[in-house]
Amino acid sequence: MTENIPLDQGTAESVEEQAHLIRVAQEVLISNYRQQPLVLRRGAGCQVWDVAGRRYLDLTAGIAACPLGHAHPQLAIAIAEQAMKLIHVSNLFYNEEQIRCAELLVKLAPEIGGHGTPRVFFCNSGAEANEAAVKLAKRYQHVVRGRADRIEVLAFEGGFHGRTVATVGLTGQEKYRAGFGPLIEWGRFVPWPTDGSDRRALDAITTNTCAVILEPVQAEGGIRVPPPGWLKALRRRCDETGTVLIFDEVQTGIGRTGTWFGYQQEMVVPDVMSLAKGLAGGVPIGAIVASPELAQAFTPGTHASTFGGNPLACAAARTVLETIMTDGLIPRVRRLGEHLAARLAALIVKYPGRALEVRGQGLLRGLAIDGDAAPIVQRVRETGVLLSVAGGTVVRFVPPYLVTEGELDEGVAALDAALGS
Ligand SMILES: *Cc1c(COP(=O)(O)O)cnc(C)c1O
Repeated sequence: MTENIPLDQGTAESVEEQAHLIRVAQEVLISNYRQQPLVLRRGAGCQVWDVAGRRYLDLTAGIAACPLGHAHPQLAIAIAEQAMKLIHVSNLFYNEEQIRCAELLVKLAPEIGGHGTPRVFFCNSGAEANEAAVKLAKRYQHVVRGRADRIEVLAFEGGFHGRTVATVGLTGQEKYRAGFGPLIEWGRFVPWPTDGSDRRALDAITTNTCAVILEPVQAEGGIRVPPPGWLKALRRRCDETGTVLIFDEVQTGIGRTGTWFGYQQEMVVPDVMSLAKGLAGGVPIGAIVASPELAQAFTPGTHASTFGGNPLACAAARTVLETIMTDGLIPRVRRLGEHLAARLAALIVKYPGRALEVRGQGLLRGLAIDGDAAPIVQRVRETGVLLSVAGGTVVRFVPPYLVTEGELDEGVAALDAALGS
């Protein structure tokens, strides 16, 4: 396990500097996070260094937000060059980067256009993108279809759509909702399918439903992939009833699952999808990509964002998309995802009853364990590898796409040791 010992153990001084910063953090920051006790200062590729000088293998990638890893030269240069040209202008005017970025996105998601071209709206985060998607669906039913009475939005038990009042209202996990009532009660939470013929959610969709929102793979909820064929049945039910189908691709989008977007796994095309996390490589951004039919519901003045689509974020996003394309990272995600899944599967054989199931697609992977995953993730961190927890009992791997097989093996070896101890 020598390869997991951080290269640089830090000097007494740097260790004290880090301890000091953590004390300051505890005084000046609101305590809404449960941070690991390290203060990160810099990164390179799949590695990060803390203030104490210790090195970590980062298999969290900023919660799936850094597909190109840290300090990627092309991305850093694109951001620096754009900052010297134009950071922000508002949407009183067009800006070049926003147009070029949208042009790329619609080329990557042509299916959402049907026989036309999909349309893009930019904002700043995943929650905002989901709010925009739901607002668009509402206005579509109300103004375009003349059905102001179709107000119910169905969401799924175990889903996660963000932390604003509206998106917590769509999030089907009590731990995110407790103490914040009254939330926006959009409609019902329906059960996540257990097998391909599970019709419980489908039967809840009627000609009075406005929209259905779901993640094509439930990520925060525990990396749960729907059974094969079920999404197709969901699409059919939405078509039969005129219900808007919203895919929250905030975590599954931008190549994470091994296709550009999660919907392309089984080619079940939503009417609108939301994007954020990986889109600009760690620069805050959000977006929706909508069918032209749906997009007509937003007319000038109906929705807006001051920072949305600003040149800096869009230059970063364009660089991320172009780099993923030119460096062939999507096939790489598929290949490395298979490698990681095989390594994790070996842990199930080694720790029967303790390691239960490998979940996910591409480089959105998890190992479900018997019990709380947080202490395992903590032990792994103490050996210099950063992982995160999904759904309480799942150890999540969402590494940068540039991760190597060797680095994934190092991460799995650290997990192996933690499970064994
Ligand atoms: C992270 C996430 C969000 C929320 O994104 P923010 O940028 O934190 O608002 C929404 N949906 C999914 C599926 C996510 O993974």
